[in-house]
Amino acid sequence: MGFLFASQSDVTLIVIKEPTENDENKTKTALFHVDRAKLIESSAYFRTMFSSRWERAGKYNPTLRGDTIKSMEVILGSIHGFDPEPESVSVTDVWYTMRACNKYLLDPKKLVGWFTRWIQWIDQEDTTIWEDLDFNRQLLFPCYFFDHANAFQQISKRLVYDNPGYITELAPRDSPLFEPMHMPAIAMRKSTSLVSLRPKNSNSQKEQLRAARGRLRTILQRSLFEDVNVTIDYAYCACAAHTIFSYMRELHRIGVRPLDGDIHKNGVRDILNRLKGFNEEKTLNGQSSVQRYTGCSHSWKFVVEHSRKQVEGYFDGLCLDCMHNNPDENSEYWSLDTIRYVYGKDCRISHGQPTWYFSFMGHRDRNPSRMQS
Ligand SMILES: [Zn+2]
Ligand SMILES: [Zn+2]
Repeated sequence: MGFLFASQSDVTLIVIKEPTENDENKTKTALFHVDRAKLIESSAYFRTMFSSRWERAGKYNPTLRGDTIKSMEVILGSIHGFDPEPESVSVTDVWYTMRACNKYLLDPKKLVGWFTRWIQWIDQEDTTIWEDLDFNRQLLFPCYFFDHANAFQQISKRLVYDNPGYITELAPRDSPLFEPMHMPAIAMRKSTSLVSLRPKNSNSQKEQLRAARGRLRTILQRSLFEDVNVTIDYAYCACAAHTIFSYMRELHRIGVRPLDGDIHKNGVRDILNRLKGFNEEKTLNGQSSVQRYTGCSHSWKFVVEHSRKQVEGYFDGLCLDCMHNNPDENSEYWSLDTIRYVYGKDCRISHGQPTWYFSFMGHRDRNPSRMQS
């Protein structure tokens, strides 16, 4: 296999890919005809390589091992201004590309354009692939690494709303394992089968995505029961008991069982979808809700719809820009003197206060509680 990246190529890199355990193929070799000056300009690794004594001794075609050919095609292509065909790049290749970036000391910023076009291609090709939660989990970290604010927002939001169990990042099968990368804790539980993305400071690890989802559940629960509490405390009419009972039973009928611990095993999105099936008729028992006494007259349909919309619109996903501010607990991030009307004003994505709050990656122990809901 050969790749011609420079018409005036003065160096040929020989990339050798040894077969892995899972790979029945034999050793693969590819030749990359490249421009030495561009390599030196882009990477300290190549700068060092080409200043070695062998290099100075004459013609030198380095052999590189331990990389996949596709990942080298991506990084060498980006150095020379060529993208590989997007359909030829898998998620696993993306992970190998991140590793190659680290190994060859290449600034990931140089690959932002390539990654953006790759995501764009996925969006055009098959939007249904985003419904696959594993695909989202596999791309959360690459979106962080290649600084794709938009996809990172969408993916983190999707994981918070749609993922039923623990929210974890996932490395594709056959992808490389990573040593700690320069990533703050984006806050997911580690699992032994998954790649560990250790934060610079393990104390700073906050499971922000899980925290955001917990917040959604709290809001949902509170919102669904606000009026129930009012009835219990203030209504003394004979129909009050029936009002609450029939509301609870209708919630159970649609599969939302707020008093059941199992509710936490459901994804937030699932619960929201079930709430759409709430049928007020079934709670009325022949009475109109407006004829009842104060404290007992609720439109449960309204309560349910209000709760659903409140939760649905609450969290916009994590914001890379807010994350990168990554301030410490004393920073202006938490400053109470700063009156904020618009959150995410200077961010690439538009978002509300909860996104700002959950995108904070530093210590939170001493922060003033500023959550509103
Ligand atoms: Zn009543
Ligand atoms: Zn932001």
